[in-house]
Amino acid sequence: MTLALLHGAQSDVGRKRSHNEDHYGIDLDLGLFVVCDGMGGGNAGEVASALAVDTIHRHFLEAGDNPDMALVGEADDRVTHTTNRLASAIRLANRAIVTSAQTHREWAGMGTTVVAAAFDEDRLCYAHVGDSRLYLVRNRTMQQLTKDHSWVAEQVAQGLLTEEEAERSPRRNLVTQALGAHAAVEVSLGELPLVAGDRLLLCSDGLTKDVPDSLISQILLDEADVPILTQKLITVANDTGGDDNITVIVLVVREQSKPGLWRQLRQRLAL
Ligand code: CA
Repeated sequence: MTLALLHGAQSDVGRKRSHNEDHYGIDLDLGLFVVCDGMGGGNAGEVASALAVDTIHRHFLEAGDNPDMALVGEADDRVTHTTNRLASAIRLANRAIVTSAQTHREWAGMGTTVVAAAFDEDRLCYAHVGDSRLYLVRNRTMQQLTKDHSWVAEQVAQGLLTEEEAERSPRRNLVTQALGAHAAVEVSLGELPLVAGDRLLLCSDGLTKDVPDSLISQILLDEADVPILTQKLITVANDTGGDDNITVIVLVVREQSKPGLWRQLRQRLAL
């Protein structure tokens, strides 16, 4: 990789909920970043989101040891192996949640969204299910790379609701795809080459439901310090109500100045 990543991550319960049903996972060695937003009665939402993060991580660890390991589900020829591996991990997480819900009555009906990013050299590979989002800031412009699997997003796409009506809709929490809902899940995939200066945001809808994109974009553009940037996103979501759990992972792409100490050592030891 000729690019380096700075990262920040935080999850917050918000101001209205008694517990946090979001989970996130980061593995810097694998270049893997995952945000899940769980749903379900009792503690079922937390169980579903944690199970999804763990299953996706474990699938990548196992694939790291055995790159030829079979994919779960059909490969998509239009995307790279890493993106197909993400889809595979998410399908496996779906199965794990469906199975757990069947064997534990108290977890019946649990589910979770997921947005995940993995890095293949300088290429960003991403996948999502539900309304957790991935944004890219490039050339001082923010764009949403994922399209929500939600009732309001579908209505907007069909021209039946305007963006403004969607934001006010009482049904804006309704997702049309989630892990745990069915035996099979439709995973949306994408990838793009990264350049130095890119900023990425993975987040749950606790950030995006009430904070306008313009404000999220302004924070991502203006704050240079990644941990402070991450904290500012949490704070602005709480300041606009904090109705839901809020989870953010921020990634800043930089030029790799010179090989890091660990890489130099590995090269010298020819590992
Ligand atoms: Ca949520």
